[in-house]
Amino acid sequence: GARDQHWAMRVKTAGEHRLIHLSDRTASAAADRIRVDFVANASHELRTPLASLLGFIETLREGAGEEPAIRDRFLGVMNDEARRMERLVGDLMSLSRIEAEKFRIPETPVDLAHLGRDVCRELSAAGGPRAADLTLDVTEPAQVLGDRIQLSQLLHNLIGNAMKYGRAGTPVTITVAPDGEAMVRIAVADQGDGIPPEHLPRLTERFYRVDPGRSRAVGGTGLGLAIVKHIVERHRGRLRIDSAVGEGTTVTALIPAAVRP
Ligand code: ADP
Repeated sequence: GARDQHWAMRVKTAGEHRLIHLSDRTASAAADRIRVDFVANASHELRTPLASLLGFIETLREGAGEEPAIRDRFLGVMNDEARRMERLVGDLMSLSRIEAEKFRIPETPVDLAHLGRDVCRELSAAGGPRAADLTLDVTEPAQVLGDRIQLSQLLHNLIGNAMKYGRAGTPVTITVAPDGEAMVRIAVADQGDGIPPEHLPRLTERFYRVDPGRSRAVGGTGLGLAIVKHIVERHRGRLRIDSAVGEGTTVTALIPAAVRP
């Protein structure tokens, strides 16, 4: 794999050439470690809602289902747990799909301003307590060569986080505009509690959360920013997170602009 580095070295000894292979065991051990942790974390994240579901099924079978009010409450919780598993499996599949396509350069012309408008419209139409807070600030055209589905997912994840972690009633501002000649900037800003600086470097790690309880309560999987990072990398862009505790967070993705004909 890309993380396993192998070198071949020609060494001249007493007039004969010998080929010596050195493999960087440190790099490949670190990659193995990350893989093992990832599978362990993913299994754990799935097992918790699964155990809860099995517990409720058991209790319903033992007779709790005969009382309609209790049965309905249980079914509500079971539905929430099943939805959590659905979100997690969806995000795991997205991650592996993006990783599999890592080396295929995406080349469909996409106007990010137009896409931003579509995603905001979708999120507003979906309703929810914060649908009214979205403010869009776009300059068209903001053309890139990309993968439309992945760029739409990037916008969904960033805007979704701003809605999840921003304060109710405060605006979430989405800006899409050319950044110099060469880049297009997507910035999503919220007025939430912000993120303490020591967490910033780790936010794009899989399953890394500042406050796990809060993330779960708002329906987070812990994979949103890991997915965003992979999408930005596949588009040869850059990701930046600025945050001030008590004020809010701005996540900025810079994607190379399409060259104009
Ligand atoms: P999650 O599904 O938990 O939201 P993400 O990968 O999207 O996972 O984000 C990782 C963590 O980063 C979150 O759990 C949260 O602690 C923090 N975070 C992400 N976006 C924001 C934001 N806009 N404001 C405050 N914290 C955020």
